[in-house]
This record gives sequence, C-alpha cells and structure tokens, in this order.
Amino acid sequence: ASARVPLVAGNWKMNFDHLEATYFVQKLAWLLRDAHFDYRHCEVALMPTFTSIRSVQVLVEADNLKIRYGAQAVSVTTQGAFTGDVSADMLSQLGCSYVIVGHSERRKYHPEDDANIVDQVRATLTAGMQPILCVGESSEEHRQGIELDFAVGQVHDVTRDLNEEEAARLIIAYEPVWAIGTGQVATPQSAQEASKAMRDDLRETFGPHVAQTVRVLYGGSVTSKNAMQMISQPDVDGFLVGGASLDAEEFARISRLT
Ligand code: PEP
Repeated sequence: ASARVPLVAGNWKMNFDHLEATYFVQKLAWLLRDAHFDYRHCEVALMPTFTSIRSVQVLVEADNLKIRYGAQAVSVTTQGAFTGDVSADMLSQLGCSYVIVGHSERRKYHPEDDANIVDQVRATLTAGMQPILCVGESSEEHRQGIELDFAVGQVHDVTRDLNEEEAARLIIAYEPVWAIGTGQVATPQSAQEASKAMRDDLRETFGPHVAQTVRVLYGGSVTSKNAMQMISQPDVDGFLVGGASLDAEEFARISRLT
C-alpha cells in the first residue's frame, strides 16, 4: 500500500450539456453520501466539456461537495487572438483541479504533438492545477510488444522539460489506445507493469520523492467489474474512466471500489 490517495476521474468527452451535467453531479453526490463515501481515501473528479464546468462549479460550491472537476484540454497560450481556445487561468478561476492533457483522441483529431503537450502541461502547472497526462500504446506497438518502452518514452518526452517540483504535481494516465472505448481491458498485470515502469523512470530522473508522489491511473474500458483487480495492483493509483463515467451509479460503484 502507498500513501498516494487514489483518484477516480470521469472523462465525459463530448457528452452532457450543462443541464445533464447538473443532474449528474447531484445524483453522484447523493449516491456517494448515501454510501457514506470517504473522500479522504479516494478523490473523485469529473471532467465535463468547457460549457458545463461553470454549472459544476456552482453546484460544488453551493453544496460544499467534495467532488473535484477539471477540463479535457487547455490552450498553451495565456490570452489574446486564439479563437476557440480556453486558457489555464480561466479554468483555474472556475475552481478546476485538473486538466487532461494529451488524450489519444486529442492526439488523433487535433494537432497535439509532443511539443504542444509539454506546453499544455506547463500551462496547467503554472495556473496551479494538475495535469493528467495520457500516454499509452496503439494496437500496433501492442502487437510488436514494445508497449512499455513506448509509454515510458511518452512520459519521458514531457518530464525531461520539467523540474522536480513540477514533476511531483504530474498525474499520469496509462491508457492503451486499443483499450479505449473497446471493452478490451488491459490485464491487471500489464497495467501494473506499465505503471511500475513509469514510476521507475520517474525515480531515475527525479529521485524517490517524485516516484512515490506521482499517481499513475489506468484508463481503458474500466467498469465496476474490472476495477477491483486493477486497483489492488501496487502501482495503479486509480482510474481515468470514459464510457462508464456517463452512468452515475456505475461511476459511484467504481469510486467505492477504489
Ligand atoms: C478514456 O477515454 O479516457 C477512456 C478510458 O475511455 P473508456 O473508459 O470508455 O475506455
């Protein structure tokens, strides 16, 4: 067991308008209260679309909820003529704790290359939030059996630009691309192996404090049926949940198991 508090983060992707988001937060808060959920032992976070963050904030503040929230991406610039972008300061002013950076869908559908991902991580950290850096191999690297080197390399591409204090605030989500939204979940052993390889790399680069502090989440077809086995792995510190985070009862179950 580690001193790291597990995190269960729901990535809503482009789902739920602000009314649906409001309904969901109330339902989740009620379910977790009903279950006497202890937020000190597991952080629960929701990552709505930009248009719903304000609604989530208002509810969380009004009812003093312990549910945290964040965004799914962030601009690498601070302000100005960048049509369609949202800055890190705007997100932190709305009480966001986290920003998902480098999700495979962003890497695929938007021009998010390594340099852009490093800049998003830096913008997030500078604004006082924590980046949830998504890495993970595609089915091609999986077939070739080079997934560990690939995922560790993706983390390394970002961490080599950070100092120790910055690296300690990173959260990593190991998400094999072939497992996202497919119902094909990685084995607990392979999630553990990948998480440990990343932690070992952090230890080599930054020393024991960073390695012991950074949470490594697993993501890819997590449900309440497979969460328990995953979270019992020593280096898996929680989950980034896509599809299953759209059902409040299922998301509450995953949180309770974590
Ligand atoms: C994700 O998109 O981050 C994800 C893990 O999705 P799913 O849980 O649906 O596989």
